[in-house]
Amino acid sequence: PVLTSPLHIAVVGGGIGGLAAALATARAGHRVTLVERAARFGEIGAGLQLAPNASLALDELGVLPAVRASAVAPPRLVMMDALTGDEVTSLDLRSSAYTDRFAHPYLVTHRTDLHAALLTACQEHPAVTLRTGHTVTEADQDGSGVHLHFAEGHAPLTADAVVAADGLHSRLRQELVGDGEPVCSRYVAFRGALPTGKMTGRMSQHAASEAVMVWAGPRMHLVQYPVRRGELYNQVAVFESDHYTPDSDDWGTEAELEERFAGACEAVRDALPLVSRDRRWPLYDRAPISTWVHGRIALLGDAAHPMLQYLAQGACQALEDAVALGQALGQSADPAEAFAAYADRRRERATLVQTNARRFGEICHLEGMGATLRNMLLSSRGPEAFDDISWVWTPTPAPAPAL
Ligand code: FAD
Repeated sequence: PVLTSPLHIAVVGGGIGGLAAALATARAGHRVTLVERAARFGEIGAGLQLAPNASLALDELGVLPAVRASAVAPPRLVMMDALTGDEVTSLDLRSSAYTDRFAHPYLVTHRTDLHAALLTACQEHPAVTLRTGHTVTEADQDGSGVHLHFAEGHAPLTADAVVAADGLHSRLRQELVGDGEPVCSRYVAFRGALPTGKMTGRMSQHAASEAVMVWAGPRMHLVQYPVRRGELYNQVAVFESDHYTPDSDDWGTEAELEERFAGACEAVRDALPLVSRDRRWPLYDRAPISTWVHGRIALLGDAAHPMLQYLAQGACQALEDAVALGQALGQSADPAEAFAAYADRRRERATLVQTNARRFGEICHLEGMGATLRNMLLSSRGPEAFDDISWVWTPTPAPAPAL
């Protein structure tokens, strides 16, 4: 059906999920106000992997060319044993097996670059209004709309419906679902991107190969890949802390990082001093929930399905959410109907990715005999064996529009 009366949709949160949702909603013909609590829009200085489901979503949002301009399309995904330094398995992203199955590229990008591409597209869209310094404290809804209240004392904002894209610690999810604090995995990440020229010796060979390297070891791993046309090299070191305490930040420290990686192979030990230590990220997720829509408020991205990063899918799933939301809002100007269609399309798939992300982390961090068996199993697969990952990288198709 053709939209006769565009809605005013408010989006809470200006991360990758919120910006993509604002863009998709505006492209579906509605008016959008996006509110972000930070004083300025931005993302952290680290990399992001975008599997073909994400590059398809970016294409559908009209921003793939802008993202491709600085992203790197790595030739291979390589899993190495972090203790022995041996290659366990790899996937060839330039093979015909890849292109036969996936129409869109596997990309790695700097978060800031992806965020900037989405932000620019929102800024250029006449139906999107962007506001920073607006922290939502509460959302009341009645039969006709939703009223957002702000910590800074701005006048309340009234919209026909609200998309809550306010991340892992979502204030709106807390109000609507009330499932407490996120679940801490006791793992922590140190990450950042540095000029590729700083990588020397063996590390410079890996960097020059442009492959995504995953060094899997007992209760730890290291991920490396180039971003920003290859000018920067992103490194993420992840490990489980033995000193986790829920009430303090005094665990998962730099000293523990050194200790956990001490037994790694030379290539990993060489790379470790160049892993950014500016900040540590404790890694959280939540259990899936069955209801993403509460009247005129819908959850999206990490607010709906925060997941551990082991399948590198959190942002990819948020982008898929945005596309599905835009399609639903393009077919119905009744927010309840559109939100129900969005959640029906996305919930099952996002839940599956969310639960499998935990499992994939366990496989990656196996020790002893478990690790030996994993390596044996994985090394028997060829570089064109996409069967097991294909479901993750392929979004659920949109239902055919009603005639
Ligand atoms: P966020 O990025 O958290 O954005 C939420 C926004 O809402 C923020 O800007 C925040 O300031 C704002 N906000 C919060 N509360 C309020 C409020 N009350 N009022 C107004 N604004 C508010 N994903 C991938 O796809 N590929 C990867 O390779 C990958 N690697 C990862 C590696 C690590 C170590 C980690 C931790 C995550 C990784 N992810 C990856 C996951 C990905 O980063 C997240 O899933 C994604 O960024 C979530 O985006 P979002 O917009 O939903 O939430």
